[in-house]
This record gives sequence, structure tokens and C-alpha cells, in this order.
Amino acid sequence: MTEICPHNVCTGCGACTAICPVSCISMKEDAFGALHPVIDQSRCISCGLCKRQTPCNNPQQLNSPTSCYLAANEDAARLKSASGGIGHLLARYYIEVLHGLVFSTSYDDNMVPVVAEAATLDEIEAFKGSKYVHSRFDAAMYQRIRQVVTDNIPVLFIGTPCQVAGLRSYLGSVDSSSLLTVDLLCHGTCPASYLREEINHVAPRVRLSDIRFRGNDGHNFVLSLWMGDDCVYSVRAASQPYLYGYLYGLTLRENCFSCPYAIPERVGDITLGDFIGVPGNRSCVAVSTPKGAEIYEAMLQRFPSLRSEPRPWSDRLSYRPSVLEPSRPHPRRAAFLRDYPRVGFVRAARRALRRDMLVNKPLYKVLHHWGHRIISLFK
Ligand SMILES: Cc1cc2nc3c(=O)[nH]c(=O)nc-3n(C[C@H](O)[C@H](O)[C@H](O)COP(=O)(O)OP(=O)(O)OC[C@H]3O[C@@H](n4cnc5c(N)ncnc54)[C@H](O)[C@@H]3O)c2cc1C
Ligand code: SF4
Ligand code: SF4
Ligand code: SF4
Repeated sequence: MTEICPHNVCTGCGACTAICPVSCISMKEDAFGALHPVIDQSRCISCGLCKRQTPCNNPQQLNSPTSCYLAANEDAARLKSASGGIGHLLARYYIEVLHGLVFSTSYDDNMVPVVAEAATLDEIEAFKGSKYVHSRFDAAMYQRIRQVVTDNIPVLFIGTPCQVAGLRSYLGSVDSSSLLTVDLLCHGTCPASYLREEINHVAPRVRLSDIRFRGNDGHNFVLSLWMGDDCVYSVRAASQPYLYGYLYGLTLRENCFSCPYAIPERVGDITLGDFIGVPGNRSCVAVSTPKGAEIYEAMLQRFPSLRSEPRPWSDRLSYRPSVLEPSRPHPRRAAFLRDYPRVGFVRAARRALRRDMLVNKPLYKVLHHWGHRIISLFK
């Protein structure tokens, strides 16, 4: 066995590393920095489990949402959440009310995004906010979730749809009645090595406690770097090559451009996204299973600060990206990929985005505008 699923389809979900009965699969960076499984051939027993159980060859059941809400937690707790703070409220419900466990993405000690476990209200704080980067889902974490689900402990998992699919695929026929899965509407993720290089470039030798991209704290669609309560770097997307490259499809993993989850039918019990087209940075909550409906109803009863109004799912679908079609590659992506292995992320991204960054500069915009006005006077 050499390849579990085609390279340009593999999401890097890591499920195969947990599925392998002899633990001979590890995730390694490819030439473009993206994590992919590598099999230690000397230990592989050719059982074929990884190939049969990868979500690429074992598609999970998808459901059409039966209800959809425009929602936000009207509380200061939402400041650091990406949009309406519903992810955080769900996590709080699992800890406070169900005395369960929450698994989602936070940074490890080296500021690498990883799927982690939380059992307390303090621990779920680190999940707040969208990390626009690939989050690593290790075999040990898959195995831990299986153990607690088997023990019938209430478990909440929040992640990208490909992570939810990886988890469901791994659990297979295990009784998962105590598990609630929440998938995010997903634009894509880019390799964590890109973020590491960018941070080393813009804030060298600084010991960070948080890296943020979204929020209701005045830093929405801004790359902001934090040491405790001090913001040591803050640049908005239009002028920040990492964030701009992510949002405009320069730097995503190749498989994200053909993502099978960018469709209205969902892999999770509940789907969270931004309610695009409605002011106020509020969330879209789409509920696709009876279990999801039961938990959301219970949350509405529990948290008076949760403001939620029903909306047709078609309202959210009218903004196509991530729900009706995957992200599209930036016109300079080929140039970025050509340069990256030779010069690294920082130089390759800045070279590819030179024109975009210039055009986004306020002075360029003013000159461009007045240039046109003056030319039109002479026409
Ligand atoms: C990579 C990524 C791409 C997204 N793309 C879109 C999009 O195209 N359109 C759209 O409408 N919404 C998108 N979202 C969802 C949106 O940004 C918000 O996460 C969502 O609206 C929920 O907001 P919240 O305030 O309720 O969540 P919060 O309370 O802030 O909770 C966010 C949850 O997301 C988890 N999370 C954060 N980063 C990651 C990650 N890298 N991988 C897995 N889980 C993560 C956190 O651990 C937390 O549980 C994306 C989110 C991510 C992480
Ligand atoms: S299980 Fe996930 S990481 Fe492994 S090959 Fe399949 S998609 Fe890739
Ligand atoms: S074929 Fe079996 S032993 Fe070999 S890598 Fe796949 S799961 Fe592991
Ligand atoms: S776009 Fe699709 S494949 Fe890429 S991270 Fe999101 S869910 Fe996974």
C-alpha cells in the first residue's frame, strides 16, 4: 500500500493514522507544506483498513437541514468568538449542563492549531474564534474520543466538515449516541507551516499567547497577535499577505478547491457559519438531525442571551461560496506553488500578491480614482 487516497483529494483529517491497527501511518508535510499520510512500508501488514475506512472512499451520510436560524449570543462572552458565539455557547452547554467533554481546535504550546479536549469552562475559552489554518487531528485524540463515546459520556465535537467526516468514518459502527457533531461552513484551510513562517517573519522571537483572525473585539478579518491582553501586531486582511492569501484562495490546501462538503447537505448534526448578507456579524445555525434540534432547543431555554430567529436555509444559500461551491484558486496560485519550495512561504506569498497588496493601499486607491477623474475631463 502506498497511497490511501489521491493526494489532491486527501483532506489531511488524520483518521487513517488512528484506523491503522499497527500505527504505521504518520502525517508528514509534502513539498507544499501540507500534511499528508505517509505509510511506513516496513511495518504495513496490507490489511487494507485505511483505504476502506478513509472518508474519501467511505462517504458519510449527509442530511439536509430541517431548520435554520440567524443567531447570536448578546453577551460580552462573544467578543472573542468568530461571529455569533454559538460555538462557545454549545461548548458551555456541554460542560455546564451535561457535564460532558468538548473536542475542538485550539493552539498547542508552540501555537500550532490542534484538536484538543476540554472539560472545564476555562478550557473552552481557547476554542473561541476561527483559526484560518489547518488543524491537526492526531491519532491519540481520535482514540480518546472513541473511548469517551463508548463510555457514553456526552461529547461535543466542533470542526471542519472533513474533520467531522474523518471522525464519523473512524467511529464506524461504534454506538455514537452520546456524540454531537458540529461542522463549520468552510472556505478551506492552509498548511500550519505557512502560519508559522508568517508569524516568525512579522513577530520574531515573541512568545505569543493567541493568534486571531476573526472576532467582535474590533479585530474582525484582521491578523492580530497577542501576548496576554497586549496586542503586539494587528493588520487587516487587505494588507496582510497571510490572511489575504487565505481569503483569496492563494494558499489553501489543494483538496479544498474540490471540497465535497461545500454543498447544502451537511455531515454534522448542526452546522455553524456566518450569516452573510445580514449586518452584525451573526451566525447561521443549521440543524440537520433530531439530536441537533434537541440540543439547540435546550440551549435556547438555558441561555436567555442567545437571540435566535428562524430563517429559511435558502437565505444562507444565496451566498454561494462554501455552501454551493468550493473556493476558487487565486490567479497567481500556480506562481505561488512554483516559488514556495525554493523560497519559502513569506517570499512566495509576497511575490504572488505584490499587485493585490499595491492595489489595496489607500494612496494607490486615491491616485487611481483621481487619475480616472482627470482623464475623463479631457475625453
Ligand atoms: C477554517 C474555517 C473556515 C471557515 N469558512 C467559513 C465560510 O466560508 N463561510 C462561513 O459562513 N463560515 C465559515 N467559517 C465559520 C465561521 O468562521 C465561524 O466559525 C462560525 O460562524 C461560528 O462562529 P461562532 O462565533 O459561533 O464560533 P466560536 O464561538 O468562535 O467557535 C468557533 C469554533 O470553531 C472551531 N475552530 C476554529 N478554527 C478551527 C479550525 N481551523 N479547524 C477546525 N475547527 C476550528 C473552534 O475550536 C470553535 O469550536 C469558517 C471557520 C473556519 C475555522
Ligand atoms: S483518512 Fe484523511 S488523512 Fe488519511 S488519507 Fe483519508 S483523507 Fe487523507
Ligand atoms: S494497509 Fe493496514 S497496516 Fe497498512 S497502512 Fe493501511 S491500515 Fe495500516
Ligand atoms: S474546504 Fe473542505 S476539505 Fe478544505 S478544510 Fe474545509 S471542509 Fe476540509
